[in-house]
Amino acid sequence: MIIDCHGHYTTAPRQHEAWRAAQVSAHAEGRSPPPRPTMTDDELRETIVNGQLKVQRERGTDLTIFSPRAAGMGHHLGDASTSEGWATACNELIHRICTLFPRNFVGVAMLPQSAGVSPKNCLAELERCVTEYGFVGCNVNPDPSGGHWQDPPLSDRYWYPLYEKMVELNVPGMIHVSAACNPAFHTTGSHYLNGDTVAFNQFMTSTVFKDFPTLKFVIPHGGGAVPYHWGRFRGLAQAAKLPLLGELLLKNIFFDTCVYHLPGQELLAKVIPVDNILFASEMIGAVPGIDPETGHYFDDTKRYVDQLPLSDADKAKIYEGNARRVYPRLSGQITRQFAQAAR
Ligand SMILES: [Zn+2]
Repeated sequence: MIIDCHGHYTTAPRQHEAWRAAQVSAHAEGRSPPPRPTMTDDELRETIVNGQLKVQRERGTDLTIFSPRAAGMGHHLGDASTSEGWATACNELIHRICTLFPRNFVGVAMLPQSAGVSPKNCLAELERCVTEYGFVGCNVNPDPSGGHWQDPPLSDRYWYPLYEKMVELNVPGMIHVSAACNPAFHTTGSHYLNGDTVAFNQFMTSTVFKDFPTLKFVIPHGGGAVPYHWGRFRGLAQAAKLPLLGELLLKNIFFDTCVYHLPGQELLAKVIPVDNILFASEMIGAVPGIDPETGHYFDDTKRYVDQLPLSDADKAKIYEGNARRVYPRLSGQITRQFAQAAR
């Protein structure tokens, strides 16, 4: 089985995003949000059959670990109650997709984070998504202020209630910022990659994994700048008299393969141990175009992984084994969903 650990519902029906715009406007004007829109199962099916499912089939992948659209999370908009209403709506939609396509999608939760608000407000929604919906992870936004970095770093005890809940529920987090509202940053060009790099550095200089030895994070987009600058981080860790990075972080931090060219993928596989790499494409996402140099989609990352000089056993880890290990609830959830599909 080929498991893509990083996909978002970027093709949701238009009324879903329209409701969000209305909800944010209502908050700004001090009104209650309008009632949530109706979306039929057929409408949802169509967005997937002609979207992510079609691409899965074309590229030969089997199952996507699926979460709400990341740029749409907008944790800097409205307040905690706005975020709660939006996260609930988005997670419910993911659950509906996983129920409609149980062989193809397993859910990951968006958290109702809100700039300047303790992540304690996320615990109930995370628990609900895991226990009621069977979600296997969550996305953690290290910068709910949307590019202004106003909340405490991930190393701060501010985040510990969330980490405690993740450990209790046995779910990993994917580090994932949302849209940038700071014009200095392009959302997917710089803010996403900054978020990934910042998170790694914050964990490196923290005691988070000493305090939570089983807590796990996937750093997406190939780890931002981290694998390319592995020597810099090793050197910084050494200067700070920290243990070797493998010992310090690699039991807890994993990297996905959302690197959109072969040389980048080769570097990732050369620098980062195979046990710490999870296959992902983030389709249909930020870079949906065709690479004129190859004639293939930039985000068809399976093509790059297939070309890596690795054994079949190592590729099987990247494609499946590591995801099942890093997301401890995944295998059980796949079994449950496949049984549901067979009924
Ligand atoms: Zn993403």
